[in-house]
Amino acid sequence: MQMKNKLKHMDGLSRICDTLMLDMDGTLLDLAYDNHMWMEHIPTEYAKRNNLSPQDAREHLYKILGRLEGKLDWYCLDHWSDALDLDVVALHREQKERIAFLPGAKLFLDNALDQSFRLLLVTNSHQETLNIKSEVTGIVEYFDDVYTSHALGYAKEDQGFWNQLQKQEMFDPDRTVFIDDNVAVLQAARKYGLDQLLHITQPDSRKASQEHDDFAGIKGVSEIT
Ligand SMILES: [Mg+2]
Repeated sequence: MQMKNKLKHMDGLSRICDTLMLDMDGTLLDLAYDNHMWMEHIPTEYAKRNNLSPQDAREHLYKILGRLEGKLDWYCLDHWSDALDLDVVALHREQKERIAFLPGAKLFLDNALDQSFRLLLVTNSHQETLNIKSEVTGIVEYFDDVYTSHALGYAKEDQGFWNQLQKQEMFDPDRTVFIDDNVAVLQAARKYGLDQLLHITQPDSRKASQEHDDFAGIKGVSEIT
């Protein structure tokens, strides 16, 4: 609990960390966009293309998506463009007006910029989605550096990601705070040796908050004041 309290205040954060690592989707940007893409827009387009009912298209997609969950290809738009025979990047662009910061996330980043720690974006996002999201929100401008799982060759769920990140960034795990909405990713970070972790419990502004017993949680970064 004591650590959670330190993590919840910007001045507490800057006392305990030299490096603040932040996930993008569901931590800073509203996961409502990604959920819309993968639960509505892409299944609808796939159904049209293949003369399927929306429900059949959704079931088929979830089945093949489920097989790769947490793997690098799961996050790879090129993989899904090939597998579905759809231009998944173009579909993301079509809906880009739905991309938005989570409530209070932009203010949080503005305040984080004034702190002395290094600010890193650490994301499983594919470069194309990162580009589109950055065009809309300007998010990458806030960061001292951006690390994507595709560039490092491993998803964040994989120890390989953290080993590669360590080689490039030389962070001190004891002086690093990492914030993410994905429990499997937080578990991988903990296994690597990070223990100043915060779980975002409401990554999609349209859905209810879901806490997890193993991690200190906040609904959103707006709680860090
Ligand atoms: Mg996320």
